[in-house]
Amino acid sequence: MITIRGTEELARLEQASRVVLETLDEIEKAVAPGVTTDELDAIAAEEIRKRAARPAFLNYRGFPKTICTSVNEEVVHGIPGRRSLKEGDIVGIDCGAIVEGYYGDAARTLPVGRIDGARRKLLEVTRQALDAGIAAAQPGGRISDIGAAVEAVANAHGYGVVREFVGHGVGTALHEEPQVPNYGPAGRGSRLAAGMVLAIEPMLNLGTGDVSVDRDGWTVRTRDGSASAHFEYTIAIVPAGPVVLGTGRLGAIGAREAAAVPA
Ligand code: MG
Ligand code: MG
Repeated sequence: MITIRGTEELARLEQASRVVLETLDEIEKAVAPGVTTDELDAIAAEEIRKRAARPAFLNYRGFPKTICTSVNEEVVHGIPGRRSLKEGDIVGIDCGAIVEGYYGDAARTLPVGRIDGARRKLLEVTRQALDAGIAAAQPGGRISDIGAAVEAVANAHGYGVVREFVGHGVGTALHEEPQVPNYGPAGRGSRLAAGMVLAIEPMLNLGTGDVSVDRDGWTVRTRDGSASAHFEYTIAIVPAGPVVLGTGRLGAIGAREAAAVPA
């Protein structure tokens, strides 16, 4: 069952995503050659705490850190540690926070210093794929419209789409129904409706979409060793269409749309 969120719940989900996006902004400022992923994790812990929120990933199914840091060929769920970032690396930062029992979840992949053209394009296209997926999350559409839009962008550039890991509903738990795959075809799955809150999160690889999980039980990496990028927003569907949470946009349209969203 997909939970429909009313105005009050959407406001809390907006707050949780705001904490996440602001935390990602602070981490982004700190990413540089020589910085360790543990140092980024410490920044995240402090920024979330300063905002009177709680980290969503710490201890989630035993995950030991506040954020996930996935470097180069690591796709998602990398564990922060003593690894120093190097010039030319890319690092995916995935962050979650809880405000009054409501979750936010977002990720972005960042360049470390100067990166090569292939990696720069991978980051741009994965970000475009996220935007396309969000734009496809229209009330009255279907869940797989999102993945079809993501996949079309990836295919246009010959990138591999990771299929083993998917987006998801977000609410009073980090992962709720429905699953939101990053592939099509369009027109399948549950019907999208106002009040649904979804994390859309394409993972695209320079090589094939095949991945494996390390012995640590968490770190997902490309099987062919190619670089991978991951971008994620939590969005709400309102009658007018999708709204990225944490940006203030929901509040801006709230007065106009609130009456149309079930309480
Ligand atoms: Mg995430
Ligand atoms: Mg997620």
